[in-house]
Amino acid sequence: MRKILSGTAAARGSALGRARVRLPHALDVQEARIEPAEVESELARIHAAVETVRGEMHDLRERLHGALAQEVGEFLDLHALLLDDPELLRGIDALIRTGLYAADYALRLQRDRIAAVFEGMDDAYLRSRIDDIDQVIGRLHAALHRRAADLQGVAGEILVTDTIAPAELAQLQAQGVMGIVTAGGSALSHSAILARSLHLPLVVGAPLALQKVNDGDVLVIDGASGLVVLEPNADDLRAHRARVADSKRERKQLNRLRREPSRTLDGVDIKLWANAESRDDVAEAHALGAAGVGLYRTEFLFMHSRTLPDEETQFRAYRDLVLGMTGRTVTVRTLDLGADKADNTGLALRDEPNPALGLRGVRLSLARDGLLHAQLRAIVRASGYGPVRVLVPMVSGIEEMRAVRNALREVHASLRADGHEVADHVPLGAMIEVPSAALALRGFIDLCDFLSIGTNDLVQYLLAADRTNEALGELYSPLHPAVLQLLRDVVRLAARRGKPVAVCGEIGGDPLFAPLLLALGLTELSLHPGTLLEVRRAIRGCDAAALRAAGPALLRARDRAGIERWLAAHAPRG
Ligand code: PEP
Ligand code: MG
Repeated sequence: MRKILSGTAAARGSALGRARVRLPHALDVQEARIEPAEVESELARIHAAVETVRGEMHDLRERLHGALAQEVGEFLDLHALLLDDPELLRGIDALIRTGLYAADYALRLQRDRIAAVFEGMDDAYLRSRIDDIDQVIGRLHAALHRRAADLQGVAGEILVTDTIAPAELAQLQAQGVMGIVTAGGSALSHSAILARSLHLPLVVGAPLALQKVNDGDVLVIDGASGLVVLEPNADDLRAHRARVADSKRERKQLNRLRREPSRTLDGVDIKLWANAESRDDVAEAHALGAAGVGLYRTEFLFMHSRTLPDEETQFRAYRDLVLGMTGRTVTVRTLDLGADKADNTGLALRDEPNPALGLRGVRLSLARDGLLHAQLRAIVRASGYGPVRVLVPMVSGIEEMRAVRNALREVHASLRADGHEVADHVPLGAMIEVPSAALALRGFIDLCDFLSIGTNDLVQYLLAADRTNEALGELYSPLHPAVLQLLRDVVRLAARRGKPVAVCGEIGGDPLFAPLLLALGLTELSLHPGTLLEVRRAIRGCDAAALRAAGPALLRARDRAGIERWLAAHAPRG
């Protein structure tokens, strides 16, 4: 039956494919009801799942040998007994038939009932049998969705999952995945940034997807609107084809801007840098006429491997990046592992109760012996091949900038002394993404050759709103008066001190926000090459002087609605 599930648009593109559902390990099912007409099909689903699990357990038992057969066999026998317990199935049937609960939820309710009985037992051993019940229920839940144990053979499919780690994305795309739908997540997470970089359609925050979609269902997902259509009809297929054709047409039109300057109507040149994560990004940035690379997130280099790459490996990566940009400046950011960039990589450095506020970014680089040193050596060595800048993430104040400045000076001098060919000057910049850095900038701006404002984190820390938490809805947004004020203050101070300043957060890559950033006085943006031409088109439709004059009105807006009204009134022409 056709169903529409809505989520949040995270990476543009329309994808059509069969679903591959990957369920979370925990049985976390939301209450879901069915229509009386669906009772029989829901009963059939759960009975089929019981048969599947029975068969799986039988096969597993057959394959066990030796000591394992003894040890695991006992559990399997117990699980088979639990599965065959008529009470289990009778209870689930009744919940579906009379409670009109969906099979998943009925399974969950029945699990809770049985668990409550076991929890009330005095005998600790019997109480611990809850684990076995959970395993049986988990198997049933997986079978209901015919969960694949691994993701082999996903070519042409759309992955439906609870969350997706950045490190998985490239691999999934290489395996031929057409698009991804996640129940959780946010459009500003690192996974979303990476998906945009890979041009892999992604819809996040679609909580119903895991309940409603089964393996093999046909899906159409639209990464621009956040809609997921289950079992699409002829109209949906037509709309999908139209979107694919539209995006080809739009690409063609935008391609005409490849050689045009990013110049406003009144002749102000806006420097568009690229946020590059991959070799393809670098090639695309170069082809589109980006000013250079404004942000190279080195943690992606680290995240793909399970160990920290040594100086030589890093050097080669940075050198190739520099060579790829043929003389345009490349900004290499030192390691920003931690928080949402450490998951599933094997590089999570330790369990932290509050990782976003933990040992991440420059804090980690300074805390780990040799880490910053090797990285700076690799970057400075790359400067022998073309202009390079060093950017420091998660700076909170002067101490960190002082420490990195000193380390850079030492590294530079020692490479020179050893006869390496390196640039005379390797500029050093600070990411302004922690509110304290923005507020205390006056005290350390002299230590910076340039600045880059990371609005993704600045918004998160300023508004105390986790950038990956979908539950926060619109709270995590740059359209907040406090964010705009802080941006204006940083841009003003930088202008007074003659320091170049760019915005490198996702806001810079959204053409809708171009007038707002120009109004705040910005003349440099760093964005993913995938949206560079759209932003260039928006800039070419803006009048920089008029927007600057409208800046005070923007800063007078007291709420999001007021800022949106300002944006609507100052949309680019054309
Ligand atoms: C930012 O925080 O805005 C930023 C560009 O850095 P990242 O997204 O890598 O944290
Ligand atoms: Mg950041």
